Order: sequence, then structure tokens, then C-alpha cells
Amino acid sequence: MKSTLSHLARLYAALPQRRMLDFPATNAEHSRLASFSLEPSMLVANPENYAGLTYPWTRAINPEPGVPQQVAEGVYWVRFPMPMGLDHINIWLLEDGDGWVVVDTCLDLPRSREIWETLFSGFLSGKRITRVICTHMHPDHVGLAGWLTERFDCQLLMTREEYLMCRSLVSDTGKPAPEVAIRYFKAAGYSEEQIDNYRRAFGGFGRAVYRLPDSFHRLKDRETLTIGGRYWQVIVGSGHSPEHACLYCPALKLLISGDQVLPRITPNVSVFPTEPDSDPLQEWLQSCARIRELLPEDLLVLPAHEAPFYGLHVRLTQLIETHKKELNQLYDHLSAPKRVVDCFPALFKREITEHHLSLATGETIAHLNCLRRRRQIDFNTDDAGVRWYFQLPESIAFD
Ligand SMILES: [Zn+2]
Repeated sequence: MKSTLSHLARLYAALPQRRMLDFPATNAEHSRLASFSLEPSMLVANPENYAGLTYPWTRAINPEPGVPQQVAEGVYWVRFPMPMGLDHINIWLLEDGDGWVVVDTCLDLPRSREIWETLFSGFLSGKRITRVICTHMHPDHVGLAGWLTERFDCQLLMTREEYLMCRSLVSDTGKPAPEVAIRYFKAAGYSEEQIDNYRRAFGGFGRAVYRLPDSFHRLKDRETLTIGGRYWQVIVGSGHSPEHACLYCPALKLLISGDQVLPRITPNVSVFPTEPDSDPLQEWLQSCARIRELLPEDLLVLPAHEAPFYGLHVRLTQLIETHKKELNQLYDHLSAPKRVVDCFPALFKREITEHHLSLATGETIAHLNCLRRRRQIDFNTDDAGVRWYFQLPESIAFD
């Protein structure tokens, strides 16, 4: 049992750093500090049912950044803030004997590093990080993986495609946008101004990613890891990223789902100019169906964004049905020839601004490529190199 004094010492040791993080203490926080409840405890049950899912701690739960919350035996949830529309990521800390396994790491930004420092000197104090697992290569997941593995001289665990793709994308930073990519966006119907914006933004991927370690441990689909004496099985999905790893613990009935399954957001599925003819949407639909088949329904899903929830099968079905509906809407929309940029109204309710243009383009081309592979649509290219998509009169469509 820890004494009250050691609670106090840790509490006050943490305070100056918390100020540096620019999170002023609220009244509620002061009363919590006064009752020495900074020691992480199990979250108090407060279930909320919404849109077919059950959120055990409500869907609006928003833990204070950097303060660990226990969600199961040996499993802690830490929310890290991010300075963008999607304003946070959920990081998972798993007790691993005399150390900790970290799942996902946040962007490499000063604020994220400071939160990690606070964790090292507070909650994680005296214990080392034994392994860093990244569910996939997106910067909010992999950003500080190199920094953490360097600091603790420990291994990075990722699937091979995610590791290699990440190193490849990071190496683009500082280079000019390639001509094939310019042609790809011109073909989609981008204006000169939009092309210029693309050129300027090119290479942004690597700007919030610390250099990855030069070696890694490859995670494979259905491989079993032992963490803290428990089995965690790797379940790979594809479509949002090429070889995304989820982690399933049968004993705790938990699924760390990364971005593969999110409760409210429909994860982005995009085609990129590096592989313009790919069909990630088909891979996405297949992996959602496969995960639904492989895993039981009664798991607590721990997503990388938003709140933990029950209802894995319901959510996977919703994700599949959403895209099927969008594919149908897009097909109908192409009764007259359209460019990629003319297809946004068929898929997105809100107006697509410059800010969301590249995501919307990638997602739209993913749907177009899926319909094209199914022989439901095709395109012609005009003299300016712009593609015009149209319905095929006699569809020989297949799934
Ligand atoms: Zn992602």
C-alpha cells in the first residue's frame, strides 16, 4: 500500500509539468487533487446506448489529457490532445511485468513529448517501456515511436507493410511533388490553384514523425503476443492503411482496434497517386466482414479515437453498409459523365473545402475504383487529361 505521503509527493511533482502543458487546473480538478484521487482507478460505470452501440462510460467521456484511466486489469487509457479537427488520440498502456507496453504514440509535437515526460516521471515512474506497438503508420499513431524506442532501447512492433510504407512516406519530406501525382490530381479535375496547394503540402507526412528505428519486429496476422502474462492476438485489417493491426485479448474480452473500428467516425479509405489503380475499398469491406466473423460480439472495443464501446459486430455492419450505400449513390450520380471533383455531393453531406480536399479526393477515387473493378462504371480521358466517369450501360457487376 502506498502511503498518503507518497501520493502527495507524486501529485505535487506532477503539478509544475502540468502547468507547462498549458492545462490550467479546473475547479473539479482541484477538488480531485485534494482528495488524492490522481491515482488511476477504474472508471465509474455510466452506460449510454446510442445508435446501436453501448458506451460503458458515455460516448462524451473525455479524460483529461495525459491522465491514465484504468479500463481493465493492467490496461490503461491515456488521451493525448492533437491540434487539428480530430483533436485527440487514445493511447493504451499495458502492464508487462516490470515494464509497460505502449500501443500507439501520438504526433511528434512538443506537447505530446511533454505528456510522455509527465507519464515517465509520474504514473510510469520506475518502470521502463518494454515494447512499442503501432497499429498502423499514420503520423498520429507512429509519430513518437522512434523517440520512445530510442529512449528505452526497446523494440518497435508493427506489420511489415506499415513499417516499410511509413519509412517510404517519411523519405518524401523535403522533396518536390512528383509529376505523376500532379497528373493524377489534374485528372481528378483540380484547378491550378488546388494543384499549387498540393505541391506546397507535399511531404507533410514526415513533419510530425520522429525518425523510425532501423529495425523492427514484424507483427503478423493471427500471431499471438504475450503481454503481462496474457495472450493478445494480432488481427490484421486493410483499407484504411495497408496492413493495420488490431490487438485482441480473449481473457480480458478487449479489442484495441486502432483506426480499423471507430464508433462514430467512418475511417478514411483512400487511393493515393503512388498506387492509382488500387481498390482499398474492396479490401476494407472484406476486412470488416472478416473481423466480424473472427471475433466475438461481446468485446469492449478500445478505439484510437472517440470513446470505448460495446457492439463490435453492429459497428462493423454499419461501416460496411455505409460504403455499400455510398457506392450505390455514386453509381446513380454517374448517369451523366462526371469528374472526380463533381462526385463529392454523392458521398459527402457537407461542402468540401480546400481543407478536406485531398481526403475527399482519395476517398472518392476509392469508391470510383471499386465500382470500376466491378465493371459498373468506366472513364474517358479528355484532351486536357481530365477523367470523366460514366455508368456502363450493361453492367456485369460483381462484388
Ligand atoms: Zn489512421
